[in-house]
Amino acid sequence: MNTEQRQQLIAHAFSTHFGATPTLWCRAPGRVDLMGSHTDYNLGYVMTMTVDRDTWMAARPRADRLVRIASLNLPGGSEFSLDDIQPANNPEMRWTDYIRGVAKVLQDAGHPLAGFDGLIHSTIPLGSGLSSSAALEMVTAIVFQQVSDFRLDAVQMARLGQQAENQFVGVSCGILDQYSSALGRAGAALLLDCRDLTSRDVPVHPTIGVVICDTKAERQLVGTEYADRRRQCEEGVRVLQQRQPEIRSLRDVPVEVFERYKQHLPAVVAKRCQFIIEENTRVLELKDALPRGDKQKLHHLFHASYVGARDLYEIAVPAMEAMLNAMLEGPGVIAARQAGAGFGGCMVALVEAQFVQHFVPYVTQAYTGKTGVQPSIYSVAAVDGAGLLNR
Ligand code: ADP
Ligand code: MG
Repeated sequence: MNTEQRQQLIAHAFSTHFGATPTLWCRAPGRVDLMGSHTDYNLGYVMTMTVDRDTWMAARPRADRLVRIASLNLPGGSEFSLDDIQPANNPEMRWTDYIRGVAKVLQDAGHPLAGFDGLIHSTIPLGSGLSSSAALEMVTAIVFQQVSDFRLDAVQMARLGQQAENQFVGVSCGILDQYSSALGRAGAALLLDCRDLTSRDVPVHPTIGVVICDTKAERQLVGTEYADRRRQCEEGVRVLQQRQPEIRSLRDVPVEVFERYKQHLPAVVAKRCQFIIEENTRVLELKDALPRGDKQKLHHLFHASYVGARDLYEIAVPAMEAMLNAMLEGPGVIAARQAGAGFGGCMVALVEAQFVQHFVPYVTQAYTGKTGVQPSIYSVAAVDGAGLLNR
């Protein structure tokens, strides 16, 4: 489906649903991390890149304070009043909490909001680690700015989106996803510093293709895995702080300092901390290797990241191991690792650009052969962050 067909499909559905034509088109992209698993809430570094899969919202301003929303990806559209923003009370409408949450934090931050009718359509797989939730938050924030006539800077918009997801939806995510979707740049990865929320462009060498390998294993972050890891990292910081008071987060812990004090940490906590500290170092090393196209280095960094995620942070599942093996056999493969929070979902490979067309069918077949599951494998390119569709 090309852009025009997509727009036609959405416009048609919009008029069926709302009985009018949309007057405003906004978009926000998904993203993939090339390095930096779980480093964001540890105030470290991430190498992140937007992908050319995005969430669109077609909208039409309303004269009253009602927000009516529907999605072509999920059933259960609903409406709410800006005068009384409550979480959805029906499980089928739970996805609308991302929109209600953004409305709530924007309003609480002092921005007077106007209502709108909005229809959502996304090409980002939902719940696979490419940040469909952040894209939904960012596109909602763009629509509100347009219909209510105020402007946020992109970092502020990312912060508010994270706040909506933390406080209203109840997911304790870091800021990586929203930041990437808001500030991404066409043609480059971003090296994000999660402490001061600054970033710099890191071009990917032109001979390298980025390929998403979706295991289609449903991510099981339903339990307390994510919260447990956050807590274990915080515990590590507390213990290390007793030895060196200037330590505020794992970001502040050089490898040598960790080595010196790690025997004071409970074994599991030590493993979690070691992964984060080493992963931060790998992000900084990737900053030099990626633009240079240093294939050996890239392979080594990605592999060390995966092995650490599996053995130290323990966020791998069998489907990820099967996918890793399929990726590493693929023609033209340079490097392969997990993406997102782990526990299934997507993985990411760097592949010789000229071999991508062979890599995709090969890995699809190899993974299906190993697991009986049909994966979804496709190359991606970095695009600009959230904004108007025809900017
Ligand atoms: P990820 O952000 O990795 O895709 P999350 O679990 O954080 O995974 O967010 C996925 C959830 O976000 C979905 O289950 C749904 O509630 C909501 N969501 C995202 N995109 C859409 C969409 N286009 N339409 C409706 N809901 C969406
Ligand atoms: Mg998400």
